[in-house]
Amino acid sequence: MTILLLGGTTEATALAHRLAARPDLPATLSLAGRTSAPRAAPLPTRIGGFGGVEGLVAFLRSEGVRAVVDATHPFAARMSRNAAEACRSAGVPLLALVRPEWTPGPGDRWTIVPDMAGAVAALGVAPKRVFLTVGRLELAAFEAAPQHAYLVRTIDPVGEVALPDLVEIRHRPPFDEAAERALMEAERIDVLVTKNSGAAATRPKLDAARALSLPVIVVARPARPEGVETVATPQEALAWLERGHAPAP
Ligand code: NAP
Repeated sequence: MTILLLGGTTEATALAHRLAARPDLPATLSLAGRTSAPRAAPLPTRIGGFGGVEGLVAFLRSEGVRAVVDATHPFAARMSRNAAEACRSAGVPLLALVRPEWTPGPGDRWTIVPDMAGAVAALGVAPKRVFLTVGRLELAAFEAAPQHAYLVRTIDPVGEVALPDLVEIRHRPPFDEAAERALMEAERIDVLVTKNSGAAATRPKLDAARALSLPVIVVARPARPEGVETVATPQEALAWLERGHAPAP
């Protein structure tokens, strides 16, 4: 094994499919293990954390990893930081594959906040019907604002959350705009809360909110580690690997 692909995103899966067709670029996919039933992967896959920077350095050395592609979610800040530090320390080339951010256009009513606490504050004091699409691991922050009615959409069950008015729906992306609009209308949503993930598969909720003239609270991306070469598409990541950051034959 010589290429380590840190995954958990659509882009990582797309790159994994490209690499699966390239026996000259042998790779292993790594997942954190957050979703209980991840989609079947086309590459050999390992699941679970490495044990921080030290654990990752040890893994890079023991497995003879020659290049790392960090294609984790834009909000997986700790993994990206660890990858940057471990690769620097082990002398392994690192590429970040990061999809572009969403940006507001005409008709969008966005409030951009720096983090989940900012999103909670931006909801305000008066009770609202909130469509919460921030992932199940971020829900605890909203316990500070129990006056709102929350419609929460996640992939896995949300588990214990101390919110008196929470309705859970479970769906995997991709979503489409008409269905998103219908859902927001049927649930009489006042405001949508989302991370700026930039994913095409989850973008339709923003288009639906714009069509309904609904306000959207957008949590900005966390800072990325400095000095890491970054591309936006799986194609570019493959080209980087082909250009020589790939393993020797
Ligand atoms: P995180 O806070 O940056 O990571 C926490 C820890 O999880 C890391 O320190 C690492 O443990 C382990 N980890 C994360 N990604 C890993 C990977 N690809 N392979 C092996 N270990 C990994 O990340 P997170 O927000 O918990 O996200 C976890 C995974 O879910 C990521 O792979 C990400 O792509 C995916 N995801 C995240 C979001 C989101 O909004 N955060 C959304 C969709 C998908 P050790 O320190 O022990 O190595």
